[in-house]
Amino acid sequence: MRKKIVAGNWKMNKTLSEAQQLASEVVNMVKDEVNSDVQVVLCPPFISLYAVGKLIESQSNISLGAQNCYHKASGAFTGEVSVDMLKSVGASYVIIGHSERRQYFNETNAQLAEKVNLLLAAQLQPIFCCGESLEQREKGIHFDFVRQQLTESLFHLDTSQIQKIVIAYEPIWAIGTGKTATSAQAQEMHAMLRKHLAGKYGEQMADNISILYGGSANPGNARELFACPDVDGGLIGGASLKSRDFTDIIKSF
Ligand code: PEP
Repeated sequence: MRKKIVAGNWKMNKTLSEAQQLASEVVNMVKDEVNSDVQVVLCPPFISLYAVGKLIESQSNISLGAQNCYHKASGAFTGEVSVDMLKSVGASYVIIGHSERRQYFNETNAQLAEKVNLLLAAQLQPIFCCGESLEQREKGIHFDFVRQQLTESLFHLDTSQIQKIVIAYEPIWAIGTGKTATSAQAQEMHAMLRKHLAGKYGEQMADNISILYGGSANPGNARELFACPDVDGGLIGGASLKSRDFTDIIKSF
């Protein structure tokens, strides 16, 4: 049985005290209201990781995630943050390949493969983001494009490694736009991704990999998205900044 996961990507929002406040609210709501087996992941900015980690430490169904890591292990890379540093502050998940990082920081599939290797070596779980632009969808090349993202960043892994990966399908045209993919579009892409994984690693392995949907998910549409057979949860941006909305999304399973 694959894990159900709802991860909140806070992006470049919240000061330290605001992050502590939001995390405390989420902890209390999850404690009081969530009785399903969903794994919640909070991904605050780097500077708040340690403090948020301390606040969630008593909640076994809430984990700490980072929003990025550098693709080299250590050294003269001013301003960057390594996998070992993230591990040392208590992160257990790391989002990699978010479309904003691909777009604004020119991250490549090859660099993401390096990040994946470093994360797995440190026993951290990558949340690997993939997804097409509107133009690619309109041209009908969205399946090929997303398949290629997976192939180039993940398919060097062996069977024991691939099972540690969480995939997040995030169509770029749906991120932060208020324009969610329909549940049919999400299901179609998730099923295709699982088939692609099955082609390389076998059906049983592919069945155990969690594939999250991301892109303007909110309390109003999460239930329908999560009801799709191949949608195993969500990577939530804007709606994760409000504890009420985020908790309602978690409760949509
Ligand atoms: C994201 O950035 O990962 C995301 C899904 O954002 P939003 O929910 O705001 O579209």
